[in-house]
Amino acid sequence: MHPDRINILKETSKFAIYLETDDNGEVWKKFRAENYNYDFRISDGMFARWGKTKETINDPEMSPFGPEILDLEITDICHGVDGKHCQYCYKSNTSNGKNMSFRTLKTVIEKINYNSQLTQVAFGLGSTASENPDLWAMCDYLHENHIIPNGTVAQLDDHHAKMIASKFGGCAVSYHGSFDVLADTVQKLTYWKTKMTANLLRSISIS
Ligand code: SF4
Repeated sequence: MHPDRINILKETSKFAIYLETDDNGEVWKKFRAENYNYDFRISDGMFARWGKTKETINDPEMSPFGPEILDLEITDICHGVDGKHCQYCYKSNTSNGKNMSFRTLKTVIEKINYNSQLTQVAFGLGSTASENPDLWAMCDYLHENHIIPNGTVAQLDDHHAKMIASKFGGCAVSYHGSFDVLADTVQKLTYWKTKMTANLLRSISIS
């Protein structure tokens, strides 16, 4: 451990959480307590958790210091796939609905990330990622707090694929009856993932 590569986020008598830069310039978020520890590589989401020792028998069943991952619905609006909504939508999203504000997002994160322990937020979005205009400011806020945003979409235009490539760590693309739409969206994400030098996107999956 190089002290000059450590940035303490929070330290108490029971635990410490800090950022550490390794020899390859990779930044890790590391949590250390007597019976609960994790390493999270911010660039690609690699995650390892253990208890008192790294023996699997000691693995903790839960985090005693707050959630590691948060699923957060930030809209109940959806623009649908080719303008059509899915009859089976598990969220009952429609063209008319409400967005979570940036201010509310900040309040939620402050309350849940009370030990700076969150590693990732999975956004519940509409199909196009355009439904909540505060999405990119929310991503920037999460990055400032060393939390990686992810999300699920269904049909992206070029602009939103580019924005996701620059701000999300992982993106899932849902299939809703059109293979062409699915392939086009994955192709756009893949293009911007490889085209941009400053891209963050590491994982594109199909759901
Ligand atoms: S794309 Fe997703 S959010 Fe939109 S209507 Fe279909 S299932 Fe619902």
